[in-house]
Amino acid sequence: MAIGMLAERIPKIHLHCHLEGSLRAPTFIELAHKHNVPLRYRPGRTDVGTAFTDKAAEPDGVEHPYRFNDFEEFLLLFAAVNRSLKDPEDYARLAREFVEDALAQNVIYGELFVSPSVWTFFNPALDVRATMEAIVAELRRAQPLASFKLLPDLTRNFGSESALDTAKAVAAMTDLDVIGISLGGDEVRFPAPLFVDAFDYARAQGLHRVAHAGEAGGPQSVRDAVELLRTERIGHGVRSLEDAATVELLASRGIPLEICPTSNRLTGVALPGHPHPHVTLDGHGCIVTVDGDDPAIFRTSIQEEYALVEAVAGAVALERYVRNAIGASFADPPAKQAMEARLAAAVAELEVRSRS
Ligand SMILES: [Zn+2]
Repeated sequence: MAIGMLAERIPKIHLHCHLEGSLRAPTFIELAHKHNVPLRYRPGRTDVGTAFTDKAAEPDGVEHPYRFNDFEEFLLLFAAVNRSLKDPEDYARLAREFVEDALAQNVIYGELFVSPSVWTFFNPALDVRATMEAIVAELRRAQPLASFKLLPDLTRNFGSESALDTAKAVAAMTDLDVIGISLGGDEVRFPAPLFVDAFDYARAQGLHRVAHAGEAGGPQSVRDAVELLRTERIGHGVRSLEDAATVELLASRGIPLEICPTSNRLTGVALPGHPHPHVTLDGHGCIVTVDGDDPAIFRTSIQEEYALVEAVAGAVALERYVRNAIGASFADPPAKQAMEARLAAAVAELEVRSRS
């Protein structure tokens, strides 16, 4: 099979994907102009129209709205994207275009992060439930080709009380394809112990729990997410590689790691000696999945991430990672079986074609 063929054709499972971070760049520009908000967010500074505040040009001489230099700038860009989304119609468009892009890449299942506490931080009047309804109505249009569930994010930066409030709001939205909670944001300044109550609450409500850890934070952050928050999956987790015991903990407990190669490269998650952490983690017996994180902001796609992984680790590893993702998903057993069958059929067809 030609390199890249599997990545292009294989059915895809997207477990670590922020819906807002999937907003197409031209749509971001259009919405920002419509609502007269800047394409850059610089808290503490006066907004100056919709002009870019920094002027370094792209190689083609055209500035790209999704350009940033480090993790902090990325977080501010994520905030800027959220400021451009003002009403349920904007979120419906975001979800509609997400579905178009996902189906074009043969995504068959996804568990998406949304950040309602970020939405209302910038737009306190927003009706969160109406917004969720608008999003879900669009996501459901993908059926039966694909199905998408939601994991609203508690967002570390708003602290423990807000996280518990968000968890309570989330528990009242299970009719809107909400299946659990996630935890993103500033992992270093807002560590896991702050969120034990919110995660305990979610667990008692029967919600699934995932957390970003081992991205900006080190191995202790990953251990805390596992042992204190009892998270079922780890977003990133790549910095677990700094401590053999943490890698062993993840492998022995079978806690999957959602690996996002381009995201890690662009946010500067430094891993000397581990240019491709998924290879090392897979080699240590960890359950690895491949994901796009904020694909539009990182100017990638789930398909491109699959292609990167196929080029580095090979088609056999990529196929294993996709199977891992099916197993690591929160889909029910019949849905998992159906995904396994679609994957097996696609791989069999590709093998026949590559022989003929
Ligand atoms: Zn993420």
